[in-house]
Amino acid sequence: MQRFLGLCAAFLMLCAAPLLHAEEQPKLAVAVDVRHVAKDLWRVDYRFAQAVTALKLHSIGAFRKQEWKVLTPGMAMKSGPDFDVIAAKGKPFKSASVQVKTFDGWSPKEYVSFNRFGDGGTAVYLGHLQGDVEQGKKTLSMHTDIKLFGLAQENVIAPPANRLEPGGDRGYAYFGPAQAIPAGAVKVLIDPRIPQWLRETILDVGAKTSAYYEKAYQRSLKDELLIMVSVDNFESSGFSMKGGAILGQGQVSYRLEGKQVLLDHPKLREYAALNVAHEMAHIWQMAVSRGGMRGDQGPWIHEGGAEAMALDALVKTGVLSEESVQAYRAKQAATCEKLNNTVDTYDGIYACGLVRFDQLGIGIVPLWRSMMEATETTGDAYSQQMIDTIVSAK
Ligand SMILES: [Zn+2]
Repeated sequence: MQRFLGLCAAFLMLCAAPLLHAEEQPKLAVAVDVRHVAKDLWRVDYRFAQAVTALKLHSIGAFRKQEWKVLTPGMAMKSGPDFDVIAAKGKPFKSASVQVKTFDGWSPKEYVSFNRFGDGGTAVYLGHLQGDVEQGKKTLSMHTDIKLFGLAQENVIAPPANRLEPGGDRGYAYFGPAQAIPAGAVKVLIDPRIPQWLRETILDVGAKTSAYYEKAYQRSLKDELLIMVSVDNFESSGFSMKGGAILGQGQVSYRLEGKQVLLDHPKLREYAALNVAHEMAHIWQMAVSRGGMRGDQGPWIHEGGAEAMALDALVKTGVLSEESVQAYRAKQAATCEKLNNTVDTYDGIYACGLVRFDQLGIGIVPLWRSMMEATETTGDAYSQQMIDTIVSAK
């Protein structure tokens, strides 16, 4: 038992930071063609509306250093600690092509670049192809128009559009034999290797919590929602479930790993349920016509808020017992205390984020409902100040 919980430590992956870069920054239109050319080989062609001097992408661990090869003659990629930069020795260029190999590694705080499916399909995280460009000393965000081309006979499923930031980061595109299946209000694409208990848990908790959020927060989904679930590394020990809500574009992606994926155990069901309810909470946090989450506002608001929303939903829908939720709260409170009640570490964002919401003295439902109204009225992102205003007006 201890073993599962220990191995579950790295869970509740967020809405990673890279989606939220500089909204004030000027933009440049960039057409990006993504072609699946062989089983584990991709070709990406960039065409810029104006000449640029560099293509500058946030580092994703060893991904680009290891798997990218610049095809355009005269151009090369340099990988620093923060950025991978493709340039032609300072000379301006209007297009660039790279060859990309499927990457099986990942960094704990980033989306997984590729998810393999048991049907032979692969999902590609398009956000890792997006970033900034430079024109001399000037930096511009890419306003991307992505086109996807699969192998012959291959079905390509594009992620829903980025509603909140047109031209901004996109989620996972699937290339393979499967079709997305409608399930209630959402569409799902589930790896055939997923064991029955997990498929059930994901679909059941997804349906129950989204129905609950819809009623409690008095909002329906703004986006078409596509849920992708893949599974990998059955050989590795333990159980890990990495979920990511891809904001503003109605996508939730889960990747499961480990031997215990095959094990139907109440503790694992509980863990999976929490993860699903948490990710669905993020989808509702963004069910607003403007405002919402922004990276420069404390991530503890989004993550602690999603934790509080999830626990409330799990009890109210009867998915988890009051005792299980209390035990989880106690565990998170203990973690937070160990972290000196701060939200400046990764674990603190979740654990102390939840504690902060629990200590506000206002229910999470009325609070977050007011936050949604406030963000839409003012266009401001969710913030500490917004929370303080709501709490003091109570
Ligand atoms: Zn999260």
